[in-house]
Amino acid sequence: MNLKKVFKNNEAWIKKQLATSESYFEDLGKGQTPELLYIGCSDSRVTAEDLMGLGPGEAFVHRNIANMVSGIDLNAMSVVEYAVSHLKVNHVVVCGHYGCGGVKAAMQSADLGVLNGWLRNIRDVYRIHKLELNAITDQEKKYERLVELNVKEQCVNLIKTAAVQKAYRDRDLQVHGWVFDIHTGKLIDLKIDFEKYLHDIMEIYHLD
Ligand SMILES: [Zn+2]
Repeated sequence: MNLKKVFKNNEAWIKKQLATSESYFEDLGKGQTPELLYIGCSDSRVTAEDLMGLGPGEAFVHRNIANMVSGIDLNAMSVVEYAVSHLKVNHVVVCGHYGCGGVKAAMQSADLGVLNGWLRNIRDVYRIHKLELNAITDQEKKYERLVELNVKEQCVNLIKTAAVQKAYRDRDLQVHGWVFDIHTGKLIDLKIDFEKYLHDIMEIYHLD
């Protein structure tokens, strides 16, 4: 890839944005009030704003390998805290995707060095749902189901945070689990029953 092309693209993009509004960048510079926190995979094929048809200023974005929400990940926890408690987004989305290399790697026995600790979180998801997953004989279907269950468990991890519990109580913040189907481009709402999970885990994880 010729990186000069990137700067050329940038110039063309500026022109395009200014054609929609002369004060486009002036307005962007004033600040942000996104409605949505999007937590997705770093996979180069799964963009954030593009697949949702959103533009700058509309989504606060965090991406990592296999869209994980780990309570000891200072990066993810800081993003959640800032987006939920300070920017006051109304929706938090965890978006996984079929064909996720991170999820696939967690299903295989291989020493991947520093990635082991990260992928262990996905293996934990497998362990929690072992009975359901082991009953699926088709490997591809099993893999897709693990992608979905991983999204669900990361939504549950979000609900364990004080920021999300407080925002739900104070202003009805909602958590959503989605999957991007890389083969069709379709965004699928897993219809995670957020309130049910919240109710289920509050007995143990109640913080606020
Ligand atoms: Zn992925």
